Amino acid sequence: MKALVLAEYNQFEYKEVPEPSVGPEDVLIQVKACAICGSDVHGMDGSTGRRIPPVIMGHEAAGVIAEVGANVLGWQKGDRVTFDSTVYCGRCYFCQRGLTNLCDNRRVLGVSCDEYRQDGAFAEYVAVPQHILYRLPAGLSFEQAALVEPLSVAFHAVERTPISLNDTAVVVGAGMIGLLVIQSLRAAGCGHIIAVDINQTRLDLACKLGADEALNSDSVDVMAQVLKCTANHGADIAFEVVGITPTLQLSIECLRKGGTLTLVGNMSPTAELPLQSVVTRELTLVASCASRGEYPACLDMIARGAINVDALVSAVAPLAEGASWFERLYEGEPDLMKVILSP
Ligand SMILES: [Zn+2]
Ligand SMILES: [Zn+2]
Repeated sequence: MKALVLAEYNQFEYKEVPEPSVGPEDVLIQVKACAICGSDVHGMDGSTGRRIPPVIMGHEAAGVIAEVGANVLGWQKGDRVTFDSTVYCGRCYFCQRGLTNLCDNRRVLGVSCDEYRQDGAFAEYVAVPQHILYRLPAGLSFEQAALVEPLSVAFHAVERTPISLNDTAVVVGAGMIGLLVIQSLRAAGCGHIIAVDINQTRLDLACKLGADEALNSDSVDVMAQVLKCTANHGADIAFEVVGITPTLQLSIECLRKGGTLTLVGNMSPTAELPLQSVVTRELTLVASCASRGEYPACLDMIARGAINVDALVSAVAPLAEGASWFERLYEGEPDLMKVILSP
């Protein structure tokens, strides 16, 4: 089969590789669409240590079942499916408590690190275990289904946050996940949603997708604006979807006393916390990582049009052209959002 292989750091080869082997519990999926994730782009230069070459990246994908293993039940050749980006074991201490995203034996598709190598979906075929499969609702395209994974990350963050009807929310970082958080917050009943970023294209998109206000933190006093919108109390909830000290501090400053900050971004391994402000205002900090169990709801919400993923797709391109799209994303082309590759 043909695959887009990260052969060396920052160097792709579109080439012939062996088809993945299909174990008794696995299905082989003919990939129809696989989206490029920010973690692929950040990881391709070696800086995260999670894309050690050679590896086939890609964990946001959908396709058609081409082959089923001997012990596979309920799935057939021809079924249209997507799958969790995380292969969890189902047996460890955490899986048994339903915390599958925190599985001790967790392997992410398209990741190779010191502990494991799991080839992903930038290829004609990918093999995945049957327990992470989800069926596509009728009418949902493969491209839309490829965006279920990032939506599930946003959805999980919103589900972990205590939200009351008509709450004011601040979302710091209007990238892919931030824009999906904004849409999920709208669906969850927030009354006033304020998006913060330094990229005007993304802020415009945020407004189109449900934000009431979009603040460019390069040119606007975000804190003053949030206070103005909230009768000087501050926001009820905030989401940090970047993961560096300045945005963490801004998210905390925007909150009212007793408010909740949900932490999603983790670009930087450490960040400075304004401890006194958190303690004396009795803030709640919640962390959110990947997702668990949110896929069916996300698939349904996209299919019903309750969440718009189409607006986030900048391009659908052949897998053979993947290297140049990775390069453009790596260079940080400002108007480029999601790029989907199809084998
Ligand atoms: Zn991803
Ligand atoms: Zn487990």
